Amino acid sequence: MVVVLKRDHTEDQLRDVSKVMEQGGVKVMVSRGSEVTILGAEGDSSGLDEEALSQLPGVEKVMRVSEPYKKANRKYHPDDTLVDIGRGVVVGGRKLTVIAGPCSVESEEQIVGIARSVKSSGASALRGGAYKPRTSPYSFQGMGLEGLRLLNEAREATGLPIVTELMSPDQLPIFEETVDVIQIGARNMQNFDLLKKVGKIDKPVLLKRGLSSTIEEWLMSAEYIMAGGNDKVILCERGIRTFETYTRNTLDLSAVLAVKSLSHLPVLVDPSHACGRSWMVEKMALAAVAAGADGLIIEVHNDPGNAMCDGAQSVTPDQFDALMRKLGPLADCVGREL
Ligand code: PEP
Ligand code: MN
Repeated sequence: MVVVLKRDHTEDQLRDVSKVMEQGGVKVMVSRGSEVTILGAEGDSSGLDEEALSQLPGVEKVMRVSEPYKKANRKYHPDDTLVDIGRGVVVGGRKLTVIAGPCSVESEEQIVGIARSVKSSGASALRGGAYKPRTSPYSFQGMGLEGLRLLNEAREATGLPIVTELMSPDQLPIFEETVDVIQIGARNMQNFDLLKKVGKIDKPVLLKRGLSSTIEEWLMSAEYIMAGGNDKVILCERGIRTFETYTRNTLDLSAVLAVKSLSHLPVLVDPSHACGRSWMVEKMALAAVAAGADGLIIEVHNDPGNAMCDGAQSVTPDQFDALMRKLGPLADCVGREL
């Protein structure tokens, strides 16, 4: 349930309404937006008397919220959430965020070289996996700790914040220390233990949509993180599994619109993992921004033919640069900037 306060409500009225709600057995989340102030009920709201609440001084209206996600729900927080990922980069505002880099960190020369070139093309952050979720146990599993160290070197060299995937709670302390954004990959979207753990820290989390997850399941995973106290959640649509096999996954662009209407959290699109084919990445990236995505995450490799992971979907630094040149004018058309 949410209680919408009148525009001219007083702080005393806000306090009184909150008290009545708390007596009804819920915790109160206060959201002071640009347009309205909202008191959201957290927990079991069956003890709240809707009629009595709506009669209290300062109350505009009371609404029951049927969705199971609360903190992630736009009804509880009408304004868009902005997530500050450090080094001057904020995800979710007018400015688009473009995260670029290889699927995996492979060497110092590779990651620092790619970081320099994507930065000069206008990328806002660097991606690169150090711990990789691979379908086969015989495939390259990532450089691990050494990969994290090299990512830190690339950040030192370029000033770009770094985004990398966390696979196990064991690695959380080192990620907290060395990483700017923790990525929770598609395969771990419903690893509830991991979600609870990243919910307890003060670090932005990039939550990818699960391979076969509904929008509601995805938002419930965001809710797990937010329920722990971490509201720095960035969503990422990366394609879902359908009957189609031509592309690696099916990019669900309508999910961007759905999620932006249902939730206040920023949404990025990953056309690389969605398509699985590098020649499709530019067009799908442009389409994602046209559809209202807050930014992109794109795999870029200096030598895609010899990449240790996901070469087929990786664009070259030159292709990435061409994409960024097209993105600028498009951003302008849709009221964003690069
Ligand atoms: C990745 O970003 O390299 C990755 C493994 O992504 P996803 O979890 O979306 O498959
Ligand atoms: Mn990848």
